[in-house]
Amino acid sequence: MDCDVLVVGGGAAGCTMSYRLSKAGMNVALVTSGTPATAMSCGRIKVTEENKELRQFIRQAGEKYGLFTEEREVQAYTNKGTLYSQSFLSDYDDSSQARAAAGIEGNKDFNPDLAARITGRLTPYWIRQADLDETAESLKEIPEEMIIIPPLFDIRHYRSSMKKLEEQSGRKLREAVTPLSLPGKRLHECLIQAAKAAGTRVLEGRKVTDITAQSALIQSGIREQEMTYGALVLAGGNLISGGLVLDGNMVREPLLGINVTEVASTRLRSAELTEALSSGICAHGCRAAAGVYACGSIVAGMSYPLNKGLWDVMLNAWNAAEKVRDAL
Ligand SMILES: Cc1cc2nc3c(=O)[nH]c(=O)nc-3n(C[C@H](O)[C@H](O)[C@H](O)COP(=O)(O)OP(=O)(O)OC[C@H]3O[C@@H](n4cnc5c(N)ncnc54)[C@H](O)[C@@H]3O)c2cc1C
Repeated sequence: MDCDVLVVGGGAAGCTMSYRLSKAGMNVALVTSGTPATAMSCGRIKVTEENKELRQFIRQAGEKYGLFTEEREVQAYTNKGTLYSQSFLSDYDDSSQARAAAGIEGNKDFNPDLAARITGRLTPYWIRQADLDETAESLKEIPEEMIIIPPLFDIRHYRSSMKKLEEQSGRKLREAVTPLSLPGKRLHECLIQAAKAAGTRVLEGRKVTDITAQSALIQSGIREQEMTYGALVLAGGNLISGGLVLDGNMVREPLLGINVTEVASTRLRSAELTEALSSGICAHGCRAAAGVYACGSIVAGMSYPLNKGLWDVMLNAWNAAEKVRDAL
C-alpha cells in the first residue's frame, strides 16, 4: 500500500484532515489541484462551535508567520465598508477603531471611497502605487492615526513589511477584509505547511481522475500515477471548486438538487463519480462508501452559500479524522 490514507483536495478541510491523521502517526498523502476556495476566501475564521484542539491547531499553523496571534471576537471592516465578524486575529486585522481608509491606485482589492460611503465614518484617501519607503511617506501625510489599507504582502513578508511600514509612516495600519486577495492565500499556505510539517506527503498540482476501492489514478500533466491506499478521503470542495455533493449514497447537484447517480456502497467505481472526479468535481458526505470518507464543503449542507465557512469545514474535517483513524 502506498499510503494509509489518500486525501483528495488540499483546502482548509483536506489540510486539517491530513494534519490530524499525520499527527496520529498515519502515512498520509494529500493530492490537490487548482486554487481552493480556501485561498480565495477572506482568510478570516469565526468560531461557531467550540473545539479547543482545533483552535490550537489554527494558532500553531499561523504562529511562525504572524497569523492568528490572538483570539478575540472582532467586527472588522470589509473592502466594501461592511462589518465582518471573526474570532482569530492576526497583528493587523482589527480595523474597528480606524477612521481613515487608504486605497492604492491600481490595486483593486480596496476602494476607500466605497468603504467611506458605506460606513459613513471613514475618511477616504488614495495614494500612488510605490515601493515600501514611498508608500510609508504617503501614509505619513494622512492625519488619522489608524488607517485601513488593502493587503499588500504575501505570507513570507507580511509581518516584517507591515511592521516596517508602520514604523516608517508612524501610523497604525489595518488590513481590509478582502476576498480573492492575499489573506486567503496566506491562510492556505500556512495550512499546507502545517500538514507537511506533521508528515503529510503533499502532491500539489495533481488531480485524482479515477478511483477504485483500493487505488486512485493521479494525473500530473501528461503523466499518470496509480496510488494504493487503505482509506480515501474526499475533500474536493464545493461550488467554487466543484459542484456535486454526495448525500448518503446519492450523488446530486447541490443547487438544483438533481440526482446524478447512486453509488453502490461496496464497490465504489461508478462512471458518474469517475466523470465527476475527472472534471475536478467531487463532492461527498460523511462516510461515502466502505473505506471512503468525505469532509469539508464537499459534504452536503457544508457549503459557503449555506453560511458554513472555514471554521465549519475545518471542524468537520477534524471530527471526520477521528472516524477515519478509528476505522483503520
Ligand atoms: C470568495 C470567497 C470568500 C470566502 N470568505 C470566507 C471567509 O472569510 N471566512 C470563512 O469562514 N469562509 C469563507 N469562504 C468559504 C470558505 O472559503 C470555504 O468554506 C472553505 O474554503 C472550503 O474549504 P474546503 O477545503 O472544503 O474546499 P476548498 O478550499 O475548495 O478545497 C478543495 C480543493 O480540492 C481540489 N480538488 C477537487 N477535486 C480534486 C481532484 N479530483 N483531485 C485533486 N484535487 C481536487 C480543489 O481544486 C480545491 O483545491 C469564502 C469562500 C469564497 C468562495
